[in-house]
Amino acid sequence: MKIVIDYEVCEAHGRCFENAFEVFDEGPDGKGVAKTAVVSDDDFDIQRAARSAAMMCPMGAISIIEDE
Ligand code: SF4
Repeated sequence: MKIVIDYEVCEAHGRCFENAFEVFDEGPDGKGVAKTAVVSDDDFDIQRAARSAAMMCPMGAISIIEDE
């Protein structure tokens, strides 16, 4: 799966890197940055944390793109 942040929408609320620090970092502008944009199929903890962060983002800026 891939993690994509829409920076047109992100308002630097910080919930992603505060709650899922294993997946996201804080960028220099205060916006979330995915530590790894592509998560391997067997990395279930990271997948779960990324999905949870996407649901918690108040702006809906995080998209999870599942592998086909
Ligand atoms: S939680 Fe959403 S709005 Fe806040 S920094 Fe992360 S991606 Fe941006």
